[in-house]
Amino acid sequence: MDRMLRIDMGAEGGPKATLTEVGEYAGLGGRALTSALVSKEVPPLCHPLGASNKLVIAPGLLSGTAAAVSGRLSVGCKSPLTGGIKEANAGGQPSQMLARLGYAAIVLEGKPKDETLYKIFINKDGVKIAEDNSLKMLGNYDLVDKLKGEYGDKIGVISIGPAGEMKMSAASIACTDMEVRPTRHAGRGGVGAVMGAKGVKAIILDDTGTKMRSPKDPDAFKEANKRWVEGLRKHPVTGQGLPAYGTNVLTNVINEAGGYPTHNFMWGRFEGCAKISGETQAELENQRGGEGSATHGCHRGCIIRCSGTFHDKDGHYVTKQPEYETVWAHGGNCGIDDLDAIAMLDRLDDDFGVDTIEMGATIGVAMEGGLAKFGDARAAINLVKEVGKGTPLGRILGNGAAVTGKVFGVERVPVVKGQSMPAYDPRSVQGIGVTYATSPMGADHTAGYAVATNILGVGGKVDPLKPEGQAELSRNLQIATAAIDSTGMCLFIAFAIMDQPETFQALIDTINTFYGLKLSADDVTALGKSVLKNERDFNARAGFTAAQDRLPEFFKKESLPPHNIVFNVTDKDLDTVFNW
Ligand code: SF4
Repeated sequence: MDRMLRIDMGAEGGPKATLTEVGEYAGLGGRALTSALVSKEVPPLCHPLGASNKLVIAPGLLSGTAAAVSGRLSVGCKSPLTGGIKEANAGGQPSQMLARLGYAAIVLEGKPKDETLYKIFINKDGVKIAEDNSLKMLGNYDLVDKLKGEYGDKIGVISIGPAGEMKMSAASIACTDMEVRPTRHAGRGGVGAVMGAKGVKAIILDDTGTKMRSPKDPDAFKEANKRWVEGLRKHPVTGQGLPAYGTNVLTNVINEAGGYPTHNFMWGRFEGCAKISGETQAELENQRGGEGSATHGCHRGCIIRCSGTFHDKDGHYVTKQPEYETVWAHGGNCGIDDLDAIAMLDRLDDDFGVDTIEMGATIGVAMEGGLAKFGDARAAINLVKEVGKGTPLGRILGNGAAVTGKVFGVERVPVVKGQSMPAYDPRSVQGIGVTYATSPMGADHTAGYAVATNILGVGGKVDPLKPEGQAELSRNLQIATAAIDSTGMCLFIAFAIMDQPETFQALIDTINTFYGLKLSADDVTALGKSVLKNERDFNARAGFTAAQDRLPEFFKKESLPPHNIVFNVTDKDLDTVFNW
């Protein structure tokens, strides 16, 4: 991973690829690399869909190695949704493949002068860029099938659906999973619209003939990775809860805690919760059978395997096992308690290439705006289909909850910096409210998952209903997350490293033995801080101030049942999050 592939999509005579050394970005991976490059090379005041924005696609530091769970791919740019810096990451196969092919990053620059659509093929022999307008407006599923017909079924694909081509702010970038299906998405912030603006429909990777990346000290690396795997296996969340029920194991837990946003953040509990919980979902999947029903990894080398496959009642594949966030967004948030309808919405989102969180929150706002009734699954499916068709209504919805709220005159719009909140109400989980408010990414649970400590008792305990300690909790988690997002590790490893110091040490040892380094825990903290500093600096130059580090007003005014509480962390406390 010692080279970068820069492709100028606006070059005279057609796209031009250049291989460069990593240079000043050496030693960085994943989010550390994308945020450093965007912060340095993208003018903060540029239009996100213009030629000056850059789309950076970077494997993590340990991607392409034998280290377990190291296959997350980071995508960075200026976000069309938030107007600030963005890093969104995804599982699937491409990160491992890109790393084995030797690339620290692909950087898409410039902009084509017309509407020509391109595909980029990368294998061990090099890079081929070709025009292919036959791919226009294909859904991700048909697109991947077509590409498999052309390039074989050993490929990994990074692609956009129609939403990305239409440059919608909710558009995602899909990564194919181990079955070469486009089910893993860098969802947040409209990264798919930036890929669409660059005129790139798909990047096809074939790592045939490449080898796993070799560690500097193979024996010590093997031993450290063994301790790493043992640590993940022995923690109850990464070793038992996630493999058995997937992330949707959280539905009952968060509902019980009164923090499950229901009917567009009106209540904290959903009466249909039991029908869509992880336990019900796993039972249904196992009853229906089929390959990989429950417990399934999204990429080679994941030993947590939190995913699964959702089949219809006749046993036909519908989608991957919908994640907790998706089940919430299209389920409880919209008053829908039908897992088959939720799975269909997930499938449509993946096919059109839109973020499931943004779309679910948008449908919730649309329901409040009178476009459909809460609980009407058929209407929700039809609204998402409008997005895929690109009708005027679909284009409004496809630009997210903030735009939809404005168009339909809704006051209760759960966004920060223009990005929709995920599945935890900040009034009942005040720590995650601090992360939503202050993360440079906009409302993002993964940026500093305070739910772990507020609700799950992982990494200590901070009362979820009180303001005390939440700013400090969010600060520490945001720093740790920025570092984890740079390694290529899936964020779910955080449960094990927060509770088990020896497992955190095993991760550091894995990095050190691979690269021949002597990093300490303090160095990891310093890395996380430097990533956040780059991101905050970009946002400040893009015009963001403390005024954007706030939750929408209604969270401070409307009490949330059942705890009948408002968000009560003070602005003064919020402004201390990045004081270190
Ligand atoms: S834990 Fe789940 S999301 Fe994370 S890499 Fe494994 S299968 Fe993918």
